[in-house]
Amino acid sequence: MIIKKAKKSLGQNFLIDKNIINKIVKIGDIKKDKTVLEIGPGYGNLTKAIANMHPKKIYAVEKDKNLVIFLKKNLSFLKNIEIIEGDFMKIFKQRNFNKNITVFGNLPYNISTQILAAFALQNKWPPWYDSLILMFQKEVADRIIAKSKTKAYGRLAVLCNWRFEIKKHFNITKNCFFPKPKVDSTLLSFRPKEIIQFNIKNPKNLENVTRVLFSNRRKMINKNFAKLFKNSTNVAEELSLNLNNRPEQLSNEMYYKITIKYENLTN
Ligand code: SAH
Repeated sequence: MIIKKAKKSLGQNFLIDKNIINKIVKIGDIKKDKTVLEIGPGYGNLTKAIANMHPKKIYAVEKDKNLVIFLKKNLSFLKNIEIIEGDFMKIFKQRNFNKNITVFGNLPYNISTQILAAFALQNKWPPWYDSLILMFQKEVADRIIAKSKTKAYGRLAVLCNWRFEIKKHFNITKNCFFPKPKVDSTLLSFRPKEIIQFNIKNPKNLENVTRVLFSNRRKMINKNFAKLFKNSTNVAEELSLNLNNRPEQLSNEMYYKITIKYENLTN
């Protein structure tokens, strides 16, 4: 494989370590009747390993025109693959995929959290995919799985833990990529929860509430809480919420409860 010029703007760091590629595919446990979607296949290293598991169908969404040409030429021997040229974020919004798809992605770093948030907060639930197997910069993965009362805890953890079971699989050193990135990576998988304990009607409200409350990490939440609720002390009392806390001291569950209150009072 000859990599001519990797595009930084598209987060291009290609996986070159066969062991890691096989380990990633194994996590998907791809059966023969499975449909797989890959975000950003690049030169198709992971794609080929997925194809070896003989899924029913593979969709591969790639934004880089040159890579699409490369893939169409080099993967044409695979009869069950559809290479889609475009920006995954656009295709995610436009296209209806079948149910029970397994999604893989060594995500472009610059839009990895944006892609994950779109999956986590889509209106239709249960979603069309049954699991997401995604690679992130290690620091981003740490934020996704962070527990409350830790430094890494923030909006991303609150948003992602609402409807996902999240599992950390392993770290991947920068040496497994070409070009070599500055940071290590982590592989996480996400399964939509069967039962969502907190019935938030509009995911946008969770985005709003967390945006407002985390806007000032070092300060007590009282002022920001008052931006969300007119009668903020009453609401706090009903929730047994101490307004002198800082945003990272609240639990995920508390953010979901606050959002449900917010939704009931504003809509
Ligand atoms: N999966 C490959 C490539 C990972 S690099 C491997 O592991 O080797 C990330 C890939 O995502 C690149 O091929 C890049 O061109 C592609 N990409 C970047 N932004 C994208 C977007 N918005 N939609 C789809 N693909 C994108």
